[in-house]
Amino acid sequence: MSEFDLIRRYFADIGPPRSDTALGVGDDCALLEIPLGQTLAVSIDTLVSGVHFLPDCDPECLGHKSLAVGLSDLAAMGAQPAWSTLALTFPAAEEAWISAFSRGFARLSDAHGMRLVGGDTTRGPLSVTVQVHGLVPADAAIRRSGARPGDRVYVSGTLGDAGLALRRMLAGEGVDASLRSRLECPEPRVRLGQGLRGLASAMIDVSDGLAADLGHILEASGVGAEIELARLPLSPLVAEVVQGTGDWSLPLSSGDDYELCFCVPQRHEERVEAVAQTAGLPLTLIGTLSAAPGLRLRLPNGDRLETERTGYDHFCSD
Ligand code: ADP
Ligand code: MG
Repeated sequence: MSEFDLIRRYFADIGPPRSDTALGVGDDCALLEIPLGQTLAVSIDTLVSGVHFLPDCDPECLGHKSLAVGLSDLAAMGAQPAWSTLALTFPAAEEAWISAFSRGFARLSDAHGMRLVGGDTTRGPLSVTVQVHGLVPADAAIRRSGARPGDRVYVSGTLGDAGLALRRMLAGEGVDASLRSRLECPEPRVRLGQGLRGLASAMIDVSDGLAADLGHILEASGVGAEIELARLPLSPLVAEVVQGTGDWSLPLSSGDDYELCFCVPQRHEERVEAVAQTAGLPLTLIGTLSAAPGLRLRLPNGDRLETERTGYDHFCSD
């Protein structure tokens, strides 16, 4: 099959047609219409085989995940998903693989009303790059820099499940399907992100671990935080590991959670529960911001947990 047949068959009609898409796949550029008063939110992520996913991972899950990571960034700005572009590099045009990848990508696109409007298809070592484009009313985007001392810190869902799934898979241990799907088919918290417009003072998606990602909010906002580890929302499986080993690295510094971490001024605290109801997702208060810079983690026994290494850094050699 030629490159163009392949694009026509598997990538030319992904996601619902949108009235604000003047031109999609097929020309030199896509033409997109940004409604008056809206800002375009743009983010791009690359997933490389052997670095971000296991080479034998299910292609349908990979199609899902490669879009999900971008959707999670849109969620973290409070943006409404609109369009995507996809640069796909693979070693050989294996139709079954491409068709499954396209199916996973299409299902999540449909779920979020997102149209695939262009891309690039090349031969080489397997890697997937997805750019996402979202819309957010001017000035309503939730940045990392708006948090203030006294704000409450929240996190959605549970932390560390994807890290536990990866750890067990790499050890060749059995992983049950729901844990595995936290790693391979994460659900981006898009509705929650939009529900927090006008409420959250700062927000980030947790992709590199809570400690590193909350650290980005603290740095951008010029504040510090006191976090109570006993409050961290953990699934029973992760809680068992933490209790058994006393090691907090799963919920604090394993990657791929794709939950949202956000700050809310104390006076708005009671509004958070209503947002949790609407989003159908637990939102857990884990600590408070302070003027003193730095991240302070308090263990259940009251002691401080000292952390040096936090999160995954591609260019960090130790
Ligand atoms: P160009 O030579 O102008 O870069 P291409 O031959 O790379 O164009 O692509 C032809 C058309 O198909 C373009 O509209 C491009 O956006 C689209 N396209 C190519 N690969 C993909 C893909 N994987 N997914 C979606 N659209 C794609
Ligand atoms: Mg091209």
